Order: sequence, then C-alpha cells, then structure tokens
Amino acid sequence: MKDLAALKDYILQVYERHRTNHEGQVTTYIPELGKANPDHFGISVVTAQGQEFSVGDSQQEFTIQSICKPLAFLMALEQHGRETTIKHVGMEPSGEAFNSINLDRLNRPFNPMVNAGAISVAALIKGASPEAGVDAFLKRLSLAAGRDLRIDQAVCASEAATGFRNRAIAYLLRNFDMIDDQVDHTLHQYFSQCSVLVNSRDLAMIGATLANIGDNPETHAEVFDMNYIKDALSVMLTCGMYDYSGEWAYNVGLPAKSGVAGGILAVVNRQLSIAVYSPRLDDRGNSVRGIKVCTDLAEEYGLHAFNFTNFGSNFIQAL
Ligand code: GLU
Repeated sequence: MKDLAALKDYILQVYERHRTNHEGQVTTYIPELGKANPDHFGISVVTAQGQEFSVGDSQQEFTIQSICKPLAFLMALEQHGRETTIKHVGMEPSGEAFNSINLDRLNRPFNPMVNAGAISVAALIKGASPEAGVDAFLKRLSLAAGRDLRIDQAVCASEAATGFRNRAIAYLLRNFDMIDDQVDHTLHQYFSQCSVLVNSRDLAMIGATLANIGDNPETHAEVFDMNYIKDALSVMLTCGMYDYSGEWAYNVGLPAKSGVAGGILAVVNRQLSIAVYSPRLDDRGNSVRGIKVCTDLAEEYGLHAFNFTNFGSNFIQAL
C-alpha cells in the first residue's frame, strides 16, 4: 500500500517532469493577468485528514478566477435552498466556451461554472450592500483556506474596466428576470469573487474542505453545509474544465475547476484535494501543466471516480 512518503515522492517526480514544459500562453484578455510570471509552478495536496504537501511556487499568490464559482454556488444553495437556486441556474454542460452568451430553454444559464451561471449566482449572494456581499464571500473562503484572504484590487479593476462581455451577459440575464435590477452590484460581486488572491496551498485546503464534506480538516471550522457539497462536486465533474469537461471526466474522472489565472483545483471525494498553479493556458483556457499533473496523479493513484481497482478509495486510509 502506498503511503504519504511515496505520495510526496511521486508529486516531486511529477513536478520535475512538467516544469520544463513551456507550452501554452498566459492570458491577456484581462490585462492585469498578463503580468503573471509564466514560469511559476506550484503543486499542493491536502488530505481530508489535514496532511499536506507542497512543492515549487506554492506560496505564489494568483487570483482564484473561475475556481470561485463552485464556492459561490454552495453559498447560494445554503442561502436560498435548491429549489430557488436552480430557478436561476441549470446544471447542464453547455458544450460552449465559458463566456458564451447563451441560455437554456428556460432562459437560465446552463450551469454555475460558466460566466452566465456565475453571474446569476453572484446576484443571489450579493448581500444588502456591495461591501457586505464581498465581505461575506471573502470570509467564507478565508475560513476554508484557514487564513485571511484578500482581493487583488488591480485585477478587480482590470476586469471591471474590460468586462464588456460579462456586462452584456448580465443585462441578458436581467432581461429574462434571472437577476434583479442591481446589475452593477451583481457584477461588482462577481468581479470581486474572481479577484480573491490564493496560493496553491490555500486552494488545496479549500478543496480538502470540500473533500471533508464542508469542514476544514486542519482548523475543524464548519465552513460549508455538508448537504450541498455533492451539488458543487457534481457540476464540477460535469462542467468544471471549460469545453474540455467531457474529456476530463473521461480521462481524469474527478470533480475539478480551473481558472484563467492558471489555477486548477481537483477534489477526490472524502479523501484529498490537488491544487496546481501554472499560468500558461492551453487553447481552452486550462493550465497546461495543471492538466498534466492532475492526469498523472489520478492515473498513478487510481483516483478516477469510476476506477475499477477502487484503489483511490483505499489508499488514503493507509496514510
Ligand atoms: N473573471 C473571469 C471572467 O469573467 C473568469 C474567467 C475564468 O476564470 O474562467 O472572464
């Protein structure tokens, strides 16, 4: 049976294997994100028992971007319940790009992982004032990460200044009564959520909180309502990796979410989470090295949800 030392050793190997890969491009459509150092590379793993291991630039902060989406979805479910929340957002893969201006036959966004869905969710959790809504989100993520997180105001301003497409999506949602008339407040909430600064260790701890059905495994804080964890993990599995989601589910088989700043978070239910930061993206918007790291780890440890060896569900108990 593989143990924690072997897992650490394997992560080091994977890190060395992929650090010389320079494929992909840092995104520039949000101008501030174009300033990222393309060579940064960090990997962190945290188990549902709170054991952790990181390698490389795991202290390097980056904005969480779309990885905020399943977390905001969880908060909307907690605040409004399933019935109301799914009136505002579906759970069907869209088969389209994350920023597609397209709604389903009920005029809902396809799912909470695309921008339209995340904007609809942001409207549900935006709170009484712009400060209150952002503050509540930041507090919740800080609780999950186990340290005080903050917003990168330069990235937030950069998104607000250039986010015409997101603004168009928001007004389309307003047209169909998916969101209320506080459109600017909703967009402020959404841009702020995307601009939370994390490092790969924070992300892995947030993921381990999901793997540990809502409780931070280190601080034992009760962060998310366990009843809704499966809602978030389900849409991550089917819709979390942009229009690579189907292939990802087939090959890697883990609930995951990636963001355009170069983060990827993958969760092994009840066991562990893997977070990777490397800002060079492929043409679908996923971190090139991030995909490779997760694919290698899932294969080596049999982490695929439907792996016949079921090794994934056994190995962690041995750590
Ligand atoms: N803030 C980004 C946007 O709305 C998030 C995109 C992403 O990470 O997928 O374009």
